[in-house]
Amino acid sequence: MSDVLRPGQTIGILGGGQLGRMLAMAAARLGFRTHIYEPGAAPAGEVAGRTTTAAYDDAEALAAFAEAVDVVTYEFENVPAEALDLIEARVAIRPNRNALSVSQDRLTEKMFLKDIGLKVAPFAPVDAGEADAAARLAQAIAEVGTPAILKTRRLGYDGKGQARILSVHDGPAALEAMAGADAILEGFVKFEREISVIAARGTDDRIACFEPGENVHRDGILHTTTVPAHIDSGTRERAFGIAGTILAALDYVGVLGVEMFQTADALIVNEIAPRVHNSGHWTEAGALIDQFEQHIRAIAGWPLVDPVRHSDVVMTNLIGDDIDGVPDIAAENGARIHLYGKAEARAGRKMGHVTRVTGPAADR
Ligand code: AMP
Repeated sequence: MSDVLRPGQTIGILGGGQLGRMLAMAAARLGFRTHIYEPGAAPAGEVAGRTTTAAYDDAEALAAFAEAVDVVTYEFENVPAEALDLIEARVAIRPNRNALSVSQDRLTEKMFLKDIGLKVAPFAPVDAGEADAAARLAQAIAEVGTPAILKTRRLGYDGKGQARILSVHDGPAALEAMAGADAILEGFVKFEREISVIAARGTDDRIACFEPGENVHRDGILHTTTVPAHIDSGTRERAFGIAGTILAALDYVGVLGVEMFQTADALIVNEIAPRVHNSGHWTEAGALIDQFEQHIRAIAGWPLVDPVRHSDVVMTNLIGDDIDGVPDIAAENGARIHLYGKAEARAGRKMGHVTRVTGPAADR
């Protein structure tokens, strides 16, 4: 593959959810074709040129997919390593494998972040295979302190696979919630706010960060992102510095989401997502370029755009039944609606989002 893709070439996307859908739409605007690979239902298939519906262990389907595209990216970080091996033998994967493997496992991720000098919550591994997991958890609680959160190391999202621990008595129930999976115990961070930086790095090593958004979660799921975040300029620069350090350490190409906790005196990295991120959806309505096009540009070897914010915005996720409010939202002036085309509105399911422009960006 040449480093630079031309319009008309094809971008392969692993994962066919809403993030894949929005990536495919952005790719189409730049004249690229897209090919989605997704084992299940694929909202992205509605807007992509081609969709392969096959499992991540279907070697034949993976090989055919890899042969049919000019670069592969992903909207989903839990693609099995064997699938990636098969693809990488045929076509480049951007962002690279290392970014994926670091973020697939919360323990690896925490160790990586600590190794590159960033602050993370205190943590201790609690492996399922240990003879006496209860004793190991008690020891981890003693190391980390309470309150704490026990999380599965892999495959957790939107607060799933997590259990709060207020005292050592909560141990057994928390272990049960892990359902036999390896876990990590994290000290609970007393944060003032949660922020995230959506950052991009190009093939020319250039780094471009969108302004931090301030995130509010409900039941472990992102509810709103408000931009600008209520932080001072020093904190903003430190947040950019953290994102840049991560991108450079991973030799990353593409868009990355970094979630952080702001405490009284520090920024603590919660987790990284090696892909476009829900807390970056505001960029569609608030900045000169959105995170999806920035990602497509990066992986296509195109120059990044200066991600200047032109408006103050609040992005609100439409979860489950929230979708019923769409007719009213549609009647609101200045409310930008983005729906994902999912047939069924189950509780906790992300159905769409709305971004409300609250004013022009004040001069900073
Ligand atoms: P996560 O899946 O790790 O992003 O966690 C989902 C949400 O749970 C976060 O956005 C926080 O609101 C909360 N949370 C997770 N880990 C911690 C922690 N160590 N301290 C405080 N809050 C946390």
